Amino acid sequence: MNIDMKYTIDLMTEILNITSPGGDTSNSIDRLREEFNSLGIEVSETNKGAIFGTIKGREDGNERFISAHIDTLGAMVKEIKPNGRLKLSNIGGLSWNSVEGENVYIKTRKGKIYTGTILPEKASVHVYSDLVTTTERNEETVEVRIDEDVRTESDTKELGIAVGDFVSFEPRVQVTESGYIKSRHLDDKACVAVMFAACKYLKDNGLIPKHTTHFFISNYEEIGHGVYAIPEKVSEMLALDIGTVGGKHTSDEKSVTIVAKDSRTPYDFGFRNRLVELAEKNDIGYKVDVHYRYGSDASLSVLQGVDTNFACIGLGVDATHHYERTHKDGVENNIKLLIAYIMED
Ligand SMILES: [Zn+2]
Repeated sequence: MNIDMKYTIDLMTEILNITSPGGDTSNSIDRLREEFNSLGIEVSETNKGAIFGTIKGREDGNERFISAHIDTLGAMVKEIKPNGRLKLSNIGGLSWNSVEGENVYIKTRKGKIYTGTILPEKASVHVYSDLVTTTERNEETVEVRIDEDVRTESDTKELGIAVGDFVSFEPRVQVTESGYIKSRHLDDKACVAVMFAACKYLKDNGLIPKHTTHFFISNYEEIGHGVYAIPEKVSEMLALDIGTVGGKHTSDEKSVTIVAKDSRTPYDFGFRNRLVELAEKNDIGYKVDVHYRYGSDASLSVLQGVDTNFACIGLGVDATHHYERTHKDGVENNIKLLIAYIMED
């Protein structure tokens, strides 16, 4: 398979740099709608602002639904402090330690962007000594220092900043000579890029899948909405999400992870086996893994009563929901397995 890795990494980098915390994903969605259009793929939009592209298959029925989420972790302003700094409420499952010292973008209701930094209230060792080390990081002890001349609550309000404003984290995208890709939100934008790379491969090679296939960009995965607006003829759903690297997990950054079970449910055994067999038949580096604290669009949806078969694959990512890292080899293995699945007869 001749995968266009330059296209994949370029698109990944571009969308990583468009901030999209859960609840404020429309800029990213607009960019991806454009991408579907440029690949000649018909796009549908849901009432809740998600989109999906559809490639018509050779046969009717047994349609397939592949999802990857564009929403990321982030935060929302929950309080303006008397000193003009901001208290935040998290969007998605993040540890405040993981964003300490990170630069952020504060987006006002009218769309103006201000920059700032997430810091513990007691940040300087010169001022607070050991308290800097021993204070637990949580919503109450962490604040945003805004890069403007604000000293009071009203100074901040005058900028137009208000409770309810979205706050997104600097994605800090880096692609190294050694092939590693680092960013805050590889989960799940790396998989979104994988999805488009597979679509582009089909287009470049004039391939038409047997089954009509829908490519869904979900927009509230980190909050657990699952997928919805599933077309009537869909019989199976494949979530593309990250494989968690670390501890005793089998996942690694150079392989595609096939998830056997997450914290909500085992995935369908037969469907998982088909994916394993496709990986073996096509010489694709893969790992079967059991994820500890984890849910995907597929597992969340079946728990909500969606009646389709379901599986989850994704590339191995180190330090998930922190400053994440994966490798180009893992991205390529992920694209190959996805193409093998789409073109399965
Ligand atoms: Zn994810």
